Amino acid sequence: MEKRLNKLIAKIKKYNSRADFELIRKAYEFATIAHANQKRLSGDPVMEHLMSIAEILAELKLDSTSIATAFLHDIIEDTEVTKEELEKEFGAEVALLVDGVSKVGLLKLRGERQAEFVENLRKMILVMAKDLRVVFIKLADRLHNLRTLRYLPEEKQFRIAKETLEVYAPLADRMQIGKLKGELEDLAFPYVYPEEYRWLIETAKPFLKKRESDLREAINLLQQSLLDERIKAEVHGRPKHLYSLYRKLLRPEIDREIGKIHDLIAVRILVKSVRDCYASLGVVHKIWRPVPHEGISDFIAQPKPNGYRSIHTKVFGPNGRIIEVQIRTFQMHEEAENGIAAHWHFSEKKEQGISDEKVQKGFFAPNDKLAWVKELVNWHREIVDSSEFLDSLKFDALAHRIYVFSPKGDVYDLPLGATPVDFAFAVHTELGREVDGARINDKLVSLATKLKNGDVVEIINKKQSHPSERWLEFVVTTSAKREILKYLRKKV
Ligand code: MN
Repeated sequence: MEKRLNKLIAKIKKYNSRADFELIRKAYEFATIAHANQKRLSGDPVMEHLMSIAEILAELKLDSTSIATAFLHDIIEDTEVTKEELEKEFGAEVALLVDGVSKVGLLKLRGERQAEFVENLRKMILVMAKDLRVVFIKLADRLHNLRTLRYLPEEKQFRIAKETLEVYAPLADRMQIGKLKGELEDLAFPYVYPEEYRWLIETAKPFLKKRESDLREAINLLQQSLLDERIKAEVHGRPKHLYSLYRKLLRPEIDREIGKIHDLIAVRILVKSVRDCYASLGVVHKIWRPVPHEGISDFIAQPKPNGYRSIHTKVFGPNGRIIEVQIRTFQMHEEAENGIAAHWHFSEKKEQGISDEKVQKGFFAPNDKLAWVKELVNWHREIVDSSEFLDSLKFDALAHRIYVFSPKGDVYDLPLGATPVDFAFAVHTELGREVDGARINDKLVSLATKLKNGDVVEIINKKQSHPSERWLEFVVTTSAKREILKYLRKKV
């Protein structure tokens, strides 16, 4: 284990030469003593679990405090060590992080009763929104638990895997941590849908074999052609993750026909600049003809909602078989794999090493934090209304937003001072128009009541109700104001 610790430290040194290695070593040693002789159900010592999480976090290039927390995250629950001792030994920041991770762990998102589920989800988001490093640690923890899921009783396997597909993987996706999302899903998949999984493996095998030789041919040809054009590039092949392949097969236009899927294996070109991206696209199309109508998706000009950037093009590749080529810069790649943690890494790279303080600033700067929390909250929202999204961008500090919940557990972020009427319009225009009354945390309240962080808001609606001019005196969101005015004007 000492050897792994040294390797871990070497790995961190590569991206953060000024990390607090003393803190990391101390956390490791403290955990080794506190968890001595404890074993997991797999028979492995607990330290195996802790070290694996630290390694995953180093892979994601997180700061020293997060990595120290990896070693300490189970200590309050599983040993005699108290939160107070931890704070005395490691300071308030580590203690808070450990506490946050344990709290999220205690929440069972698949509560029996709806009310319990909502309550837990609400707590979880509030805990995570306080310090987003909690999310990374929790995701890494979940990933290692899934890797060792086979040792757990069957019933537990199913619950944990299902929770992963429903909550943790979408969360990783929203935070744009592609690396974790794909692996979380692929690990959970066979436990949640065992028969579908077997079907997919059987169906995909022969196709994957054929594609592999195509792939080698494609990579060689591309490398040569890019070199000829003097574009410095790395070219890789990547098999599609199984669960996302499965999801794609279920789309109506695909209808379980694997032959219709063209990105079974994708080729990825990594280059230095955006300009090189477009130059590489030219090279690709010179070698292989683009597929008509399927063509090019330019997520650089128009990034996906979670921030993903890349150019995708489908072409008639080797042997006339369609392949997908993805082109992006190294930075875009880093961001797609490691999530927002990648941003500070690249922006600070010009300087000599990065101080821990700077690394943390990446997590705490108000604007960054707002963006992060937005991701968190958006993730659970079924409908992303883009106009509402733009409205909310006008608020530049976290303090100006509150998070409230529908009785079903959907999360809405609203500006400070928002009322049940604002909430109703945020949920749906229709609902806003029919507001008749409201309950906050099960109590009937006046429509002008200001909502507080974490409130569960229930709108009582009646078909014959309609917006009143009086509402304009207390609503604060643009969408509510606009809709109320629209209604009043129509009436006249
Ligand atoms: Mn754990």
